[in-house]
Amino acid sequence: MNQNHRQFNLSRRNSLKIVTGAIGTGILAACTGADLGAPEPTISRNDLTPDAALQKLMDGNQRFADKKRLNPNQDLVRLTEVAESQKPFAAILGCADSRFPSEIIFDQGLGDLFVCRVAGNVATPEEIGSLEFGTLVLGAKVVVVVGHKRCGAVSATVKGAQVPGQIGSLLDAIKPAVESSKNQAGDKLENASKANVVLQANRLKASPVISKLIEDNKLKVVGGYYDLDTGRVSILSES
Ligand SMILES: [Zn+2]
Repeated sequence: MNQNHRQFNLSRRNSLKIVTGAIGTGILAACTGADLGAPEPTISRNDLTPDAALQKLMDGNQRFADKKRLNPNQDLVRLTEVAESQKPFAAILGCADSRFPSEIIFDQGLGDLFVCRVAGNVATPEEIGSLEFGTLVLGAKVVVVVGHKRCGAVSATVKGAQVPGQIGSLLDAIKPAVESSKNQAGDKLENASKANVVLQANRLKASPVISKLIEDNKLKVVGGYYDLDTGRVSILSES
């Protein structure tokens, strides 16, 4: 083991200790496969830079949009390889919309992506906590907040729809984006959807855990917009 590997392992263990101390080793291990006492994982360490992780994602999206999917890491060998531990290279905060499952549109496989999906891709405390975990503990190097064309949650917010149950909480989280984009020229829904991506990415970056990782050049948070017609993700913002 070289010096860099040793330092990386030590810092990872320290991160794990902090988290396990807070929420309990048993729960952590059960949820994630991360366990302080477990042997080193057999899969290779995720040592991509944030830029390289973003490039890997975007290359996968290009393959998808060009109908040249490789369907990587989806066989039984990979299933076995990641059964005991995970080192996803990227994390996604995406809308729950059924038309853009992350592993398909980014052409990735088992153990590659740490995915949080919620209608309107809103950064609630639970989503932020999940992504703090996916980056600080599991080591994802890039988080992409992905909004999309014809998003129902954003559309309902733009229309000021009266909605039942808890749906209103989603619309409340999107409203500031609708407000900030309402005077822009062009398509209201598309403008609001893009503004919402930037708003939620900024909420995520307000997390002290996330901002420290960005400051240390260990993480990038990126806003993306998925076109349902072409299958392409375009980058809206980067940090
Ligand atoms: Zn949506």
